Amino acid sequence: MSTNYFKANPDLKGFFGEYGGSFIPEVLEEEMKKINDAYYSISKSHEFISELRSIRKHFQGRPTPVYFCNRLSNKYGGRIYLKREDLNHTGAHKLNHCMGEALLAKYMGKKKLIAETGAGQHGVALATAAAYFGLECEIHMGEVDIAKEHPNVVRMKILGATVVPVTHGLKTLKEAVDSAFTAYLQDPINTIYCIGSVVGPHPFPMIVRDFQRVVGIEAREQFQEMTGELPDNVVACVGGGSNAMGIFSAFLEDDECTLHGVEPAGRSFKKGDHAASLTFGKPGVIHGFKCYLLQDENGEPDPVYSVASGLDYPGVGPEHSMLKDLNKAEYHSITDKECIDAFYELSRAEGIIPALESAHAVAYALKLAKANPQKSILVNLSGRGDKDIDFIVDTFGLPE
Ligand SMILES: *Cc1c(COP(=O)(O)O)cnc(C)c1O
Repeated sequence: MSTNYFKANPDLKGFFGEYGGSFIPEVLEEEMKKINDAYYSISKSHEFISELRSIRKHFQGRPTPVYFCNRLSNKYGGRIYLKREDLNHTGAHKLNHCMGEALLAKYMGKKKLIAETGAGQHGVALATAAAYFGLECEIHMGEVDIAKEHPNVVRMKILGATVVPVTHGLKTLKEAVDSAFTAYLQDPINTIYCIGSVVGPHPFPMIVRDFQRVVGIEAREQFQEMTGELPDNVVACVGGGSNAMGIFSAFLEDDECTLHGVEPAGRSFKKGDHAASLTFGKPGVIHGFKCYLLQDENGEPDPVYSVASGLDYPGVGPEHSMLKDLNKAEYHSITDKECIDAFYELSRAEGIIPALESAHAVAYALKLAKANPQKSILVNLSGRGDKDIDFIVDTFGLPE
């Protein structure tokens, strides 16, 4: 990948084409500028880079492997490979940007990390990073998600974080973001908001993408080493879009690779039953940035739903919004039912229990494999499913 793309995207004002930017109050604007300036100088320093490299290797266990799914490929056709982010420490890709954000916070002299969480994966990853660096940590989480993702709530508390329940609105991810932003604004000098995906005002979509690029860089090299070629298809689920940007970023200039982002189609395509922002949204502003947004006539975000707590966000990363318009990536959607089927399919065929979020990518990969039996598919398996097992079995039961 040439560095030109990354130099140009986002531009200096934080825009990816017409998307992104920062639509925020002036006080916050100043803080974002400080974070941006700090990021530009600190992230290029030799000290920062070598500390991050050492953390990835010795603490996170990187590189994570790429694995060929023999039984699944035989059954469905195609050649299906998984980039095993489920084996990253804490069980998902999110620690990649959390360790980076927390390291940046340390260099900036911050004392406390604040963030929202949906499925709890971001909260656990950030609480882990905070413990590693000896920083305080406050995680905002919707009450609905707290009930659904109980093991992750306990993990955060064990790691020493404070979990703040969010009780307004739908009590899920969007409200948790609102709540965390409000808390951050009360003390922006000593705290830093560590956003959980490639969303929010500039510079966050850029910072989070940059910290996730390691996934794509590793996977491209590993795939080539295993097969002697590049994958025909790269597939990742899209909530905010960080795991997808991480893997896509290494293949953006390879015309032979088709990039597929997979959104949650939930229960149906009726408003409130899904969270397929790129499929059904229109350009709009949420949480300080412009993107494809599920919204009403007044620009208010629609209620959203997915069986996967980490995917139910009405907006999506600005870079995905641009890639969609440029036809650089395709975006599809997978229903709850297809996701649950894929969850069991991967568990039983390969011995890997995926996160419900990642099972969306697996479900789409299985369709793609069936339709294109000659082609190879590299899936970013963004996380492991331990957090989801009680919910799944209680709600859907075990298959035969
Ligand atoms: C949070 C999460 C996601 C969704 O976030 P993105 O920013 O879209 O990657 C996907 N998979 C897992 C396992 C998650 O925890």
